Amino acid sequence: MQRSIEGDSSRVDVENNDIQSIKEVENVIKIFEPSLVIGTGGGKVLDITKFCAYKLNKPFLALPTVLSNDGISSPVSVVQTEHGVSSIGTNPPIGIIVDIDIIRKSPKSTILAGIGDLISNFSAIEDWNLASKHVGEKIDKFAEILSRNSVEGFMQYLIRNGSSLLDEHTLISLAEGLIQSGIAMSLAGSSRPCSGSEHLISHALDKLLNHAKPHGLQVGLATLFTHTLRKRDISDLTALYRRIDFPDTPEDLGIQMSTFMDAIRNAPATRKDRFTILNLVSDKEIKEAIKIAYGR
Ligand SMILES: [Zn+2]
Repeated sequence: MQRSIEGDSSRVDVENNDIQSIKEVENVIKIFEPSLVIGTGGGKVLDITKFCAYKLNKPFLALPTVLSNDGISSPVSVVQTEHGVSSIGTNPPIGIIVDIDIIRKSPKSTILAGIGDLISNFSAIEDWNLASKHVGEKIDKFAEILSRNSVEGFMQYLIRNGSSLLDEHTLISLAEGLIQSGIAMSLAGSSRPCSGSEHLISHALDKLLNHAKPHGLQVGLATLFTHTLRKRDISDLTALYRRIDFPDTPEDLGIQMSTFMDAIRNAPATRKDRFTILNLVSDKEIKEAIKIAYGR
């Protein structure tokens, strides 16, 4: 990490979302009292700057250099605190600037991760409806529609046009989908429209793995399983995953099946207040769904 100060401008370079980085960014904001905090970089950089801007009551502008998750526009920051990695509610950015030429040069794995996080909206919405039916959770209909449209629009575009990942319109459609997802979360006042059982499995994997895989890849992979648990047809999804080289089994993502099974069992405990399909299924149903989803 380094801090550079030129004239009356200020800039701090961070590589992590840890406590040290938070302090460094906070210090710079306190010294310079800027009218606007701008975060440019990947997910961790945007998480840190969004979080610090919120804490110090400053507006925040996001300039993502990768499209790896819906955090670019969400009212949530994932940061490391003394209690471990936490998702903390913040203000959403006042604006987002996406330069498609920069995104096109980003690693393919980051684009795939963004696609996985967007596709997981399908699973999250179903869990939200399930929670409404079983425990009376209130659904914000507009947020639900926005979340669903953001992924359906992208899927239709990618499937209908058979476009390449680096096609300009594919990337624009992905950016718009992720931004709309963030807006859906802002409207709902929680991550519910875009985070269900597939996200809980990903949170459990984060705890079990020494080096967790990218968030979007974990939730996209878990969506195949959670959709199968709900007896949904996943053939369109698996065909798409194969076409774009998205990992479609835990082993493809470098995760042992036994670890993935442990993550499924641990998932509900990662967020006890979030009712999902995992609250309703037996061990036997889990094993059967694993076989169908991942061919094991
Ligand atoms: Zn996510």
